[in-house]
Amino acid sequence: MTQAPPRPRSPFEAPFGAIPLFRRVALIGIGLIGSSMARAIRAQGLATEIVCAARSAETRAAALGLGLVESSYEDPAEAASGADLVVLCSPVGTYGAIAQAIGKVLEPGAIVSDVGSVKGAVVRDVGPHIPAGVHFVPAHPIAGTEESGPASGFAELFQNRWCILTPPEGADPGAVERLSALWLAMGARVDVMDAEHHDLVLAITSHVPHLIAYNIVGTASDLEQVTQSEVVKYSAGGFRDFTRIAASDPTMWRDIFLNNRDAVLEMLGRFSEDLTALQRAIRWGDGDTLFNLFTRTRAIRRGIVEAGQETPAPDFGRRKA
Ligand code: NAP
Repeated sequence: MTQAPPRPRSPFEAPFGAIPLFRRVALIGIGLIGSSMARAIRAQGLATEIVCAARSAETRAAALGLGLVESSYEDPAEAASGADLVVLCSPVGTYGAIAQAIGKVLEPGAIVSDVGSVKGAVVRDVGPHIPAGVHFVPAHPIAGTEESGPASGFAELFQNRWCILTPPEGADPGAVERLSALWLAMGARVDVMDAEHHDLVLAITSHVPHLIAYNIVGTASDLEQVTQSEVVKYSAGGFRDFTRIAASDPTMWRDIFLNNRDAVLEMLGRFSEDLTALQRAIRWGDGDTLFNLFTRTRAIRRGIVEAGQETPAPDFGRRKA
């Protein structure tokens, strides 16, 4: 264990007198999402103690140096020991092994949650390692940027964003309520749905768009007739937006596609059919089909702005200057 020296009150600190929802919160992984949680939990005084586990000594030192946690551990089980809330904040592909490692130290009454971008695989990989008397409530905050690491997080990341909870059947309502209270206090809005439905919705709203971005940027970089320097020099707004998405963390996104395979393939099938229809419209000069679709899609963008999930000038979830 590495412990932080006593520190002066930081700007993240809760107002004096705030009542914590949890005694010890253990964040397993402290990158963009884990560190944003640490900052928001501190700012709102939602825990008496925040600790973390991370793979590299560099990340563990950064978490301490930034004043995000009281202690940091290499071993997730040491971080989870004595915690009444453990949140897995590492790539989804690591969850099974982490759950196996922490299973034996979890205390009765503790809540285990996560922030993973897929949910069916999390229930499959983590569920079997949760001992009786411990509550398992998976969650997914629909908030993020293309950046990674403990320095990239910020306390306002979850403000006004949705956090979807996917409690398995028979989950303890009190535990769901407590986790919900945490996300609400961090500024999020909370919805509850089953894991399968979550994975289908997110496949079309997040996973397939990322795949398209990775693919289009990959295609552009493989072209023979257009040089890479021309792609960079003449990158228009549309391509630039794709490159932002395609700059997202490779490990995280590899794990998402491997763990939401069925829903992504289902949505990709629909996408390919619609793309073929557009291809046909262009080939046959069918302007009406193109115009009608583009009018419909413009309205969807307006709907997202009106729902407060985007501003007319795109902010992509970044912190305000
Ligand atoms: P990140 O910035 O890359 O941070 C990942 C963290 O996990 C790092 O602290 C890393 O430690 C740690 N880690 C990796 N492997 C580990 C292991 N085996 N044991 C313990 N810690 C390990 O990632 P992120 O963007 O915060 O994403 C974390 C999770 O949030 C993912 O499951 C992702 O699906 C989900 N999520 C992400 C977004 C987003 O937009 N980024 C949005 C919603 C949900 P080291 O630095 O030492 O490797």
